[in-house]
Amino acid sequence: VIDSQSLELLNVLDAEIHELAKRRKTIELGLAKGIESNELVLDFQPVEDLKTGLVCGLEALVRWTHPELGRIMPCEFIGVAEDSGLIDALGDWVIESTSRAILELHQQGFPLWCAVNCSAGQLLNPDFPNKAQKALQEAGLDPRWIEFEVTESAAIDDMTRTVEALKKLKLQGSQIAMDDFGTGYASLNYLRQLPVDVLKIDKSFVMDLLEDKNSHMIVKAVIDLAHALGMVVHAEGIETAEQRASLIQMGCDRLQGYWFSRPMDLAALQIWLSQHTATAAPNLNH
Ligand code: C2E
Ligand code: MG
Ligand code: MG
Ligand code: MG
Repeated sequence: VIDSQSLELLNVLDAEIHELAKRRKTIELGLAKGIESNELVLDFQPVEDLKTGLVCGLEALVRWTHPELGRIMPCEFIGVAEDSGLIDALGDWVIESTSRAILELHQQGFPLWCAVNCSAGQLLNPDFPNKAQKALQEAGLDPRWIEFEVTESAAIDDMTRTVEALKKLKLQGSQIAMDDFGTGYASLNYLRQLPVDVLKIDKSFVMDLLEDKNSHMIVKAVIDLAHALGMVVHAEGIETAEQRASLIQMGCDRLQGYWFSRPMDLAALQIWLSQHTATAAPNLNH
């Protein structure tokens, strides 16, 4: 027998679960149309080059302005896109929009590269490198300005095909970054096999860098390892001056996080850049 208080709690929980399921369903049902009818938008987050202290590049981060639900963050719909076969269409949209935005920034005198996130599944589509090249060509943007980030949101099922796709992207002139390093499925194995130029240390390590001696030692070892492998080291999620100082001391190459700047839409970015890059030199990352 359940008392009335527990029953009430169960009802509340039930209603909340129902709401979440409804939201998930709405997201699932609306995503295809959302991609088609331009409900997606990009934010861009500046990256700091630690050699100069200046902005050297950007990361494009997708958002969805849903007609009823409003602004939705990628953690709520990237997984849906991956599961429902929409990740290719979403990825195409992201590359096309990024190219146009970056070209616009170049024309305004901001010569920055931009990182684009790719799900492991996108790289398994044998068309991906060609499609990316075509999209960049159509926009008139040299592939050297684009860095493809392999996000470890899912295990890489087919190593051979993934390596092949990444090699093609590199041959076309782009850079490859391993995103969220340290949190995924088989990070060291990926590092051994994938042709990676840039290693992005996940923000979870940066978060306890100052409190946790083990995190500190792991980050230091990862930075040294990546440098020994000839990679650029990029740390994510830097929120404080202390975290930044610690990463500089450990020899990190670039930083991204709220301390330097939050992600912004293109209009806000243009204002931010005009206040931050008065002396920034052209900066290709290779
Ligand atoms: P990510 O690629 O690791 O991107 C970094 C995430 O950390 C972003 O979250 C960013 O807003 C957030 N972030 C940046 N600086 C800080 C900080 O100082 N503190 C904290 N706490 N967070 C910070 P966001 O935009 O919600 O994106 C989440 C994830 O969604 C991304 O993680 C990426 O894996 C995925 N994603 C975003 N855009 C795309 C896309 O176009 N395609 C694919 N396949 N995945 C995407
Ligand atoms: Mg990323
Ligand atoms: Mg990351
Ligand atoms: Mg991530």
